[in-house]
Amino acid sequence: MGTLHEVATDTEEIETVEPRCASGHSTRAVHGGVRRKKAYNALHTPIVQTATYTFSDTQDLIDFMESKTWGDGHEREEYGRYGNPTVSAVEARLAALDGGEDAVLYSSGMNAVTSILLAVLPAGAHIVMTSDCYRRTRQFCLTFLKRFGIETTVVENGDYDALEAAIIPKKTRFIISESPTNPYLRIADLERIAYLGQQYRVMTLIDSTFATPINQRPIEWGIDFVVHSATKYLSGHNDLLAGVIIGRKDRIKALRDARGVLGGVVDPQNAFLLDRGIKTLGVRVRQQNANALAVARFLEAHPKIQRVWYPGLESHPDHHIAVAQMEGFGGVVSFEVDGDLYRTGKFIDAMRIPYIAPSLGGVESLIEQPALMSYYEKTTEERLALGIKDNLVRFALGIEETDDLLADLEQALATI
Ligand SMILES: *Cc1c(COP(=O)(O)O)cnc(C)c1O
Repeated sequence: MGTLHEVATDTEEIETVEPRCASGHSTRAVHGGVRRKKAYNALHTPIVQTATYTFSDTQDLIDFMESKTWGDGHEREEYGRYGNPTVSAVEARLAALDGGEDAVLYSSGMNAVTSILLAVLPAGAHIVMTSDCYRRTRQFCLTFLKRFGIETTVVENGDYDALEAAIIPKKTRFIISESPTNPYLRIADLERIAYLGQQYRVMTLIDSTFATPINQRPIEWGIDFVVHSATKYLSGHNDLLAGVIIGRKDRIKALRDARGVLGGVVDPQNAFLLDRGIKTLGVRVRQQNANALAVARFLEAHPKIQRVWYPGLESHPDHHIAVAQMEGFGGVVSFEVDGDLYRTGKFIDAMRIPYIAPSLGGVESLIEQPALMSYYEKTTEERLALGIKDNLVRFALGIEETDDLLADLEQALATI
């Protein structure tokens, strides 16, 4: 019989075990990262729901202060803002999935984006960003960072000469891009962006949320940082918000230290749910890829659809880059209905399977009209200037049966 204290320290018997096999995507999603001997031999990483961690005596505290090297995986934790075992397990799994050395988890995708820029950029720095990056990322750079004297140049997506010309030597610190983008699913040439970054010593950051590490791994093309809104495909169930940045070990350590200052930590409960979601990422994304491709082809052949945007279609302007760079084309399809704002809304209302909601990447299909969802306060003319047509629909496919989704589209289009 152990004393109460010995029972309580059972979870400290942590040893690191290499993942048994980590080659294919789904194998990495289930087994990737660092395996630790779990409390009570439980298979799952426990939810370590604590704000702080205790020291057995003063010498224990002094030993910790002398030896700590944060970000080392199986180091002990000190305080919840600096580390949590449930969170660390998810970080290791996400790093393995995206082919990076380490990862740092945040309370939301936007928190990941704002934290890295606040942590890294000096006053007077300059950012080059491609157009149709996530709306709030653009807003943060163009308005918030501008207040700190940090300027952002936005260049047309796909114009690499303009991107190169926008770089100001010694001043530009980041090239920020996204692939695929929202809502037109434009694909960035990652190798080209990575090359420009290396040539001009500018750090490169790709928001890879729409792709997932199953379909695209920017680090393999030489990109420095990958960011995901883990709210979307990674968690996959529309039930939590989280964000992650993946990159080189020393850089992620700096970001983790900065997270301890900025405070954007994810709750251990959410980290556990995210970990559970990631394990099925491979099967979910493959079904979503298949659904989206089938829906894109169906819509392209339909007389009541004017145009379909999907990188898996030959008609998409970036199809050739997508084929070279991606293993699947993702689960989002955008299209233009033959009609105005109201006829398009009538079609959406006739759809029975998808919910009307923003977001994407979960098991449930979601559908929305960007003109009403994200740009409601603008006029038709203002929206057009931003490239958002009134008849545009964004369909984020879930994991439902393909035939059911096609039949639903067929009946809904028959009503208009
Ligand atoms: C949703 C999203 C974000 C923001 O993530 P949150 O988790 O909602 O903060 C950033 N980038 C892209 C591409 C997204 O889709």
